[in-house]
Amino acid sequence: MSSVNSSSTPTDRLAKQRGISTRCNCGQAVSRFTSKTVKNLGRLFHCCPMGSDKEKIHLLKWTDKSVVEEIEDFQDLFDVLLVDNIEIQKSVRGGEAMMKGHESRIKETEDAIAHCEEKITKCIKELRIIKSLFVCCLVMVFMYIA
Ligand SMILES: [Zn+2]
Repeated sequence: MSSVNSSSTPTDRLAKQRGISTRCNCGQAVSRFTSKTVKNLGRLFHCCPMGSDKEKIHLLKWTDKSVVEEIEDFQDLFDVLLVDNIEIQKSVRGGEAMMKGHESRIKETEDAIAHCEEKITKCIKELRIIKSLFVCCLVMVFMYIA
């Protein structure tokens, strides 16, 4: 089929199918043709090979209208993706702020650990001095007794 009768109304058929259809409801793959009617000369359309003007169940649709639908659907999808992207960017910013908070707490914890290590080192030194004094005192006591 390479032409369409000007009396047909292809846009009314299968109005539920949006965009460029690849299959008719009957299961047949649709093909693209060029209208040779005076009314629509040179206009592209997609059509089921099983279709005819009498059988309105088969797909027959103007390609330019299908393309407009594809663009509209793409625009809707793009709008959804744009909103999703904005939400993702907000989440990423929130995650980055949370990471900075955690990094700050890690730094505080590291500082506290370093402070504790200094105190432990100081305590060990004091214990060694006390131990030495104790030994000295013990030696003096033994010398006094002896
Ligand atoms: Zn069909």
